[in-house]
Parts: sequence; C-alpha cells; structure tokens
Amino acid sequence: MIAEINFLNEWIPEQMGPGTIFILENAGEIGEESDPYWAVLSCPSCATLGLITRKQIAGLIPVICGSDKCSAQFHICNNDIVPRKPS
Ligand SMILES: [Zn+2]
Repeated sequence: MIAEINFLNEWIPEQMGPGTIFILENAGEIGEESDPYWAVLSCPSCATLGLITRKQIAGLIPVICGSDKCSAQFHICNNDIVPRKPS
C-alpha cells in the first residue's frame, strides 16, 4: 500500500495513481450535510476510485476501499495513509 498522499490540482484521470486525492470542485455541496463528499481518492492499494467525505479526509473516520477485490482500510493522517489497525 502507498503510504503518502499525492494531491492533484487538476482532474486528470490518467494521473490518479494509487493514493492520489483530487478535491471536488463542489466539495461540501453533495452528500450528507453533516459529512459531505469532499474528494475523490484513488485507493492506495488497488487504485480504485472512490468518493471520500470531509470526515474521512480529516482522518476522523476510516476509508474503506469500495472494490470487491480489495479490503484496504486506512486513515488519512495529514498527507499520510495509515493502515487501519485491526480492532
Ligand atoms: Zn482498494
């Protein structure tokens, strides 16, 4: 798993390698009002793209990869990806 986050300033799908985050242009405007969608994250393990919320990008709740073939679970901690400890 990639350990560091890479921020993209422009939406360039070919550059969404594992661990890349692109902040949505309408961040905060869609999803739950208390925890809206904030960015697109490429899974640091398998590069599957998924939406993440404000709380996930703040590291408050873990990110779980949406792919059926990948079970990556991790926290975003500043610019690092921290694998979730088994509870
Ligand atoms: Zn994954």
